[in-house]
Amino acid sequence: MKIGQTYKEPSVDTQKFFDGMENENPIFSFICGACQRRIRLDFWKFLDEASNWENNFCDSDLLEIKSKISFPQVSEFIKSHEGGQPYLAITVCEYCAHKHLVYVGFYEFQPARYFGTLQGVYEAIT
Ligand SMILES: [Zn+2]
Repeated sequence: MKIGQTYKEPSVDTQKFFDGMENENPIFSFICGACQRRIRLDFWKFLDEASNWENNFCDSDLLEIKSKISFPQVSEFIKSHEGGQPYLAITVCEYCAHKHLVYVGFYEFQPARYFGTLQGVYEAIT
């Protein structure tokens, strides 16, 4: 995989899209970089798919990701820009099949209360 265009750049100041409990059904969305239609994703489902992302991507993909995205680091652990855990996965536009590398920050703020932040969206060239 190569990362092409940046559609959304990570920032410490990014507004979270979710602040709630696990019985809620958060959705987040972004605009497809190719067809400009809105892609909506189920947050819990995305986290499931992305939870083991450092094992889901091959070594060269991880190098590409980590050279493109400067994750904040605390000792040997990488964090998401807003201070949570990074979750990354490739999602495919349901309308035009354009591929996006999606980077979300997830954080258990207090027991059973969660924050979700859409940090980055990139063109994924595979
Ligand atoms: Zn599209």
